[in-house]
Amino acid sequence: MRWGLHPRGPGAAAVAAARNLWMLPRLRCHPGWRGTTRRLLVRSVTGASNQLQSSNNSRYRDTVLLPQTSFPMKLLGRQQPDTELEIQQKCAFSELYSWQRERKVKTEFCLHDGPPYANGDPHVGHTLNKILKDIANRYHMMRGSKIHFVPGWDCHGLPIEIKVLSELGGKAQNLSAVEIREKARSFAEAAIKKQRSAFIRWGIMADWNNCYYTFDGKYEAKQLRIFYQMYEKGLIYRSYKPVFWSPSSRTALAEAELEYNPEHVSRSIYVKFPLLKPSPKLVSLLDGSSPVSFLIWTTQPWTIPANQAVCYMPDAKYAVVKCSKSGELYILAADKVTPVASALETTFEVISTFSGVDLENGTCAHPLIPDKASPLLPANHVTMTKGTGLVHTAPAHGMEDYSVASQHNLPTDCLVDEDGVFTDVAGPELQNKAVLEEGTDVVIKMLQYSKHLLKEEKLVHSYPYDWRTKKPVVIRASKQWFVNITDIKATAKELLKKVKFIPGSALNAMVETLDRRPYWCISRQRVWGVPIPVFHHKTKDEFLINSQTTEHIIKLVEQHGSDVWWTLPPEQLLPEEVLSQVGGPDALEYVPGQDILDIWFDSGTSWSYVLPGTDQRADLYLEGKDQLGGWFQSSLLTSVATRKKAPFKTVVVHGFTLGEKGEKMSKSLGNVIDPDVVINGGQDQKKEPPYGADVLRWWVAESNVFTEVTISPSVLNAARDDISKLRNTLRFLLGNVAGFNPETDSVPVNSMYVVDQYMLHLLQGLANKITDAYKQYDFGKVVRLLRAFYTRELSNFYFSIIKDRLYCERAGDPKRRSCQTVLAEILDVVVRSFAPLLPHLAEEVFQHMPYTEEPQSVFRTGWIRTSSIWKKPGLEEAIESTCAMRDSFLGSIPGKNAAEYKVILVIEPGLLFEIIEMLQAEETSSTSQLNELMMASQTTLLSQEPRSVTTDVIERKGTFLINLEGGDIREESSYKVIVVPTTKEKCPRCWKYTAEAPDALCPRCMEVNLNFGKDNRLRVLTFSVPSDEYDDLEPIPPPKQGHPPPVAAA
Ligand SMILES: [Zn+2]
Repeated sequence: MRWGLHPRGPGAAAVAAARNLWMLPRLRCHPGWRGTTRRLLVRSVTGASNQLQSSNNSRYRDTVLLPQTSFPMKLLGRQQPDTELEIQQKCAFSELYSWQRERKVKTEFCLHDGPPYANGDPHVGHTLNKILKDIANRYHMMRGSKIHFVPGWDCHGLPIEIKVLSELGGKAQNLSAVEIREKARSFAEAAIKKQRSAFIRWGIMADWNNCYYTFDGKYEAKQLRIFYQMYEKGLIYRSYKPVFWSPSSRTALAEAELEYNPEHVSRSIYVKFPLLKPSPKLVSLLDGSSPVSFLIWTTQPWTIPANQAVCYMPDAKYAVVKCSKSGELYILAADKVTPVASALETTFEVISTFSGVDLENGTCAHPLIPDKASPLLPANHVTMTKGTGLVHTAPAHGMEDYSVASQHNLPTDCLVDEDGVFTDVAGPELQNKAVLEEGTDVVIKMLQYSKHLLKEEKLVHSYPYDWRTKKPVVIRASKQWFVNITDIKATAKELLKKVKFIPGSALNAMVETLDRRPYWCISRQRVWGVPIPVFHHKTKDEFLINSQTTEHIIKLVEQHGSDVWWTLPPEQLLPEEVLSQVGGPDALEYVPGQDILDIWFDSGTSWSYVLPGTDQRADLYLEGKDQLGGWFQSSLLTSVATRKKAPFKTVVVHGFTLGEKGEKMSKSLGNVIDPDVVINGGQDQKKEPPYGADVLRWWVAESNVFTEVTISPSVLNAARDDISKLRNTLRFLLGNVAGFNPETDSVPVNSMYVVDQYMLHLLQGLANKITDAYKQYDFGKVVRLLRAFYTRELSNFYFSIIKDRLYCERAGDPKRRSCQTVLAEILDVVVRSFAPLLPHLAEEVFQHMPYTEEPQSVFRTGWIRTSSIWKKPGLEEAIESTCAMRDSFLGSIPGKNAAEYKVILVIEPGLLFEIIEMLQAEETSSTSQLNELMMASQTTLLSQEPRSVTTDVIERKGTFLINLEGGDIREESSYKVIVVPTTKEKCPRCWKYTAEAPDALCPRCMEVNLNFGKDNRLRVLTFSVPSDEYDDLEPIPPPKQGHPPPVAAA
């Protein structure tokens, strides 16, 4: 049997066209309806009451097919987290990773886990990152790929070392390197244990017994191999250079270990550098009557003693000016004359101007060291944004200063030691003074005394701080190990063009951070890390490293871990047989170096240990935006250096987690959200109820993770409400496919009700869009699409019109089976759509599937399956035009029960009429598809005005534009909706106003009731769930007339 294809009357061509609407699966269709937001109007039932079409009459209650399921509508209190734990057990979450590894499938998807740092408790930053990765993995697994995902931890480094030492207090000073390392290791192990159990609780799929750890000997050995490969290629060298130095940690720091404090206060000064030897051009400009000085400005007065030069911009214009206050002549950039004069609270008279290049070969006097000349040098880092256009240059304390010094062979002596205090070389006044404190003060006083200081003022600016000690750092030259990244950078930038970045802007950010890095200092003067495998001569400034010594160390480390560097005697680290291969220097002449590797080098080599296959490239790296200058970069640089390829094909970058108003989370603000409290509830469970892990996962998925991600109690509450609405939808679906067997009861698509076909059409579109959104890692879009579908298309539209068919037709009636077939498909598509987001809820639903004997795991049964025959764009015109007329009808009876009215639709002859006629073959019907959509007592379809209409009517007029085949078929039709109170009585079984007499069954119910005993399926139904729970399923409250909800048998 087939519905809706019985046209009355003439118009063969139009009928053929209309017929095509749902006969041709891929008909293109562009809805266009008077420029209004048609879809919103179509789907929601507003303006009139809708009612639950079931009986309050105990005579018929057992003949009504209410939904039946054991799937709970709500999980209260501890039920939510407890159910999740049960599901994890029952559905074998812990075995899923190895199960999918063992599948024989062709494609592999490799997501390389950036190792979280092994200190501290799990926090919402971890939650965001790990859940995003898990969603990606579960999606790819369901689509049929084998997932390679090995979680890891970054275990070494200063933050752990400092924490351990500070916990030990005074005792720390007497500890040996080995003792510190032991304590640091157990500290890291404890943190890993805590974090791992949290990650498992969040439902992260992995083999948690096989993770990677940067303190693992085998990992360390791989890392040393990368180090040596780079050393052999000449990419790693030892040099004396200015680096960021933390006096508070007594170590060099990398750019990634700095935090910039925008509130830092420096004492900035204007200083005179007296002219010593003028350049030839200056000679011609000056008459020698007044003293002449170069003006410089600096925010770091303590670097003045280390001055070696003054730099200028060769292309800029400079001026000789006369100061009205002192009468002296000063030289500075012409552009800076006015601002500097005003800063010095004086006026300058410009005597003459000249070009920067004219300063060449001139010198000036050091303001603190008599007889010391500072040459004037051209440099391209000089700018006019701040200062005087002349730059004080201290090569030991600035990267650019250093590069000028190396070009001109200037000394780069450093007057500051590891503690950040002046050495004896700085002179007796400065010796032992901390450069950022008293040292600065003394330098300023000395400049004042020598009459070279023109002005001092406080300056608030952004200044680098040690990320751990939160104390300011300095730039200081010292002997360190460096990676020469100039050549690697060029190749890396080329290779990045082939990497997909999401969002796209992250590529530029990554290139910028690469450009900012002049070189990579990889040595640290600490003990908790991987040693730089180099031996230093005891007396000479020489070191020893070659393939034999390194290979020997690598073997030892692989076997015993890097502790050997500190525990084994030198003759075992440098045994004779190794030394004899390289010309036999005496092992006892050498000692193991004291430096360890930067932890970014540690974690940056993880690709070489973790990534599978010979290619060793991951499909995806997914981390926070701080890794653009951190792990993404160190991984890229080590990979490009050793094998000229990027370790990743796609990089997804997410933002940070912040409080509700975008503020940082901190204990002092009291806005820290603990993921464990979200899952299990806080001390006061009324204020902090247990939400379970799926709420966290929904929060992650729905957030716009490409910007900053906010989290707060209200955000989490909203996530719980969303899930609860989804749960209701699922319960409706599960309850109404009870007694349905898809294998034997399914109705073929072309035999379905038009609205059922239309839902499959929508479902197919939804499935495609959701799959696309997952492909783009846009999980927020998945949530938006799903939420719109289950609230608008399902709850507000489809569910509200099919209840009569579901509850009141015979169990096996094809009309009922038609919509059950669709409900089963919807259930399957919806559950698979959200399964990667909410694995616990998805598995819970599959545990309650009525037609599977053995509950299956949704994750072991593949991705969404849709059929191309579901696609029927022409149906949109039929459903949307009907809904437009229904909206006119419902709008005319606000607040009233639509079932108490009959509707007459008058449509002028034409395409619209032909289409609507498909939904109702008879002129008047209370059982047609058209009447189901209209939700009226009965619907009459006419092509001309009825002859006699009573006075008690409401009339509404409208037009609808049919737009088919990309606009090839366009036709606007007028319609009129005439609404008349029904004369029929309310059927006590289905509550529709379709009965001929009071308290009599309507003809449909009469037939169902007569055949009731013959239908076995009806008998097996038991109503174990209190039916009032279904009230929540109602998109619109039941009518006011006061009908009690249908009573179900206990
Ligand atoms: Zn009835």
